[in-house]
This record gives sequence, C-alpha cells and structure tokens, in this order.
Amino acid sequence: HAKQQGNRYLFFNDTMNRQAVKRLQIENLMRFGLKEDHFCVYYQPKMNTETNELVGMEALVRFITPNKGLISPAQFIPIAEETGQIIEIGEVVLDKACADVKRWLNKGLFSGRVAVNLSAKQFALPDLTARIDAILQKHSLPSYFLELEITEGTVMDDPKEAIAIMKSLSARGIHLAMDDFGTGYSSLAYLKQFPLNTLKVDKAFIDDMSTERGRNMVDSIVTIAHNLDLSVVAEGVEYAEQVHILSELNCETIQGYYYSKPLSAEHFEQFLEKQQGR
Ligand code: C2E
Ligand code: CA
Ligand code: CA
Ligand code: CA
Repeated sequence: HAKQQGNRYLFFNDTMNRQAVKRLQIENLMRFGLKEDHFCVYYQPKMNTETNELVGMEALVRFITPNKGLISPAQFIPIAEETGQIIEIGEVVLDKACADVKRWLNKGLFSGRVAVNLSAKQFALPDLTARIDAILQKHSLPSYFLELEITEGTVMDDPKEAIAIMKSLSARGIHLAMDDFGTGYSSLAYLKQFPLNTLKVDKAFIDDMSTERGRNMVDSIVTIAHNLDLSVVAEGVEYAEQVHILSELNCETIQGYYYSKPLSAEHFEQFLEKQQGR
C-alpha cells in the first residue's frame, strides 16, 4: 500500500514536472520569438449579413517558430498572460496591425476598423492610452481605424476603474467590443454603463442554435445589444444555416469560417482586392 502511494506521488510529480518543463519551454520560445520577430498577424473578415460586404476584421496573433512550427494561441496565450509577455506580444500585434491597415488605406483597399484583442494585463497598464497613442502616431493612423476587443473578465474585475479606462479610449474615437460575450460573468447593470460599441456573441451560443432554446438565447442577446445601441457580431459561424438564422434574428455582422478563416496579411490583401472586384 505504501509503495502504491509512493508511485502515485511519483506519478503526479512527474506529470507536474512535465507541465512545468513545457511551460518553461514555451516561455523561452516566446522570449526568443519576440527578439527574432516570430510573431505575425492574421486577419479574419467580419461580414455584413445583408449586403455581404466586409465591415472590418479581427487581428489574430500567430506564433511561427523555426523548429516547432506553428504554436496555437490556445497553447501560448495563457502562459503569456501569466508571465506578462502578453504585454509585449500585444504591442507587436497592434504595431503590425496598424502598419497593415495604413498600407491598405493608402492603396484604397480598406477604410474600416481593425479589431485588436487587448488582454487584461494590457488593460491594467497605467500608461495604456499613451502606449496606444504612440503606436498610432508611429504609423500616422487615426484612432478612428482601431477597435479593441476586451473580455468580461477584464472589465468586471474592477468595473468602476474599467469604465474610466474605457472612456479614455472611447474619447479618442477608438471603438470597443465586448469579446466572448456571455461566457464570463457580466452584469447587465454594468453593461449599459460601459462605453461599448459592439457585443461579440461567443461561438458556444452560435453552436447551440440547432436547438430552439439556443436560438432563443441568441435572439435575447441580439435584442439586449440593440436595446443598448450596440452592434452585434456573431463569432465562429461555420454553416449557411447559421447565417440564415442570424440574419432572421437581425444579427448584422458575422465572423467565421463560413466566410473565411483568418488569413495572412498577404492573403487578406487578396481578399480585399476581390471584395473590390479588382
Ligand atoms: P477570440 O478572440 O475569441 O478569437 C476568435 C477565435 O476563433 C480565433 O482563434 C479564430 O481563429 C477562431 N475562429 C474564428 N472563426 C471560427 C469558426 O468558424 N470556427 C472555429 N472553430 N473557430 C473560429 P485563434 O486565432 O486560435 O485565437 C484564440 C484566442 O486567442 C482568441 O480568441 C483570443 O482570446 C486569443 N488571441 C488571439 N490573438 C490574440 C492577440 O493578439 N492578443 C490577445 N490578447 N489574445 C489573442
Ligand atoms: Ca477576439
Ligand atoms: Ca471571441
Ligand atoms: Ca474565444
């Protein structure tokens, strides 16, 4: 019996060790990757359901290492959040997104907003707005072209403080979207106090639309959003049937594989050219 316990102890210890080693490996890869420019940005279109026109896009980070290939955000983002490396990664993404949008603007290919994810760690930086201003200025990109996606967790930690930060971003003309809406703990009382422009309905709700209860749920979210004068983006839309239901429910914007997977800057530029019929 004692031996069994000993084994169990060893087993857990070993698993914990392997996890810690893996974490440390990714942390080191990220540190090296930041130096060597291994992070790039992909773009996923957001489409209007009525007109089939592009209304914007989301910038999504991609980490491509020479030896281990692509490492998915699900693997490295949580670790980057813990170590604080997400701050530097987030600024790389913002910098590259601003450069790309400026180029597409100059080419007459796009004049909408690019949405960039903002982590809780970035949101909590005392000089957040100064950092964002500096990047926009570096690319001579007016703040009008920027949208920031934040999650419920980020703002519900300290809602009063969050409102002040959001107001200072919003006052610059930056749009704000609540990401993964409905998955965290949000409060309707606060929702109307946040200076938001958009609610993004999480993929989990879109997946549930095969049932009547699921459809009613999305219907309710869209109605709440519209009552608060917010636009709605449905995330993770993959099927024509979902597009059909969403347009019936007056959800005006759709993002998902149905229209396009996230594309490299080069491929997204081709997507923009096609949109313009060039
Ligand atoms: P998110 O912000 O909710 O981004 C949407 C995710 O859903 C993306 O995954 C996107 O590729 C995926 N997606 C879009 N349409 C579909 C679809 O139709 N079906 C399916 N199955 N998936 C779809 P990705 O790029 O792997 O990113 C995962 C998460 O990592 C993001 O979720 C976000 O939380 C985080 N993330 C990505 N880039 C950044 C970044 O630059 N900064 C920060 N802080 N977080 C990021
Ligand atoms: Ca997002
Ligand atoms: Ca999301
Ligand atoms: Ca998500």
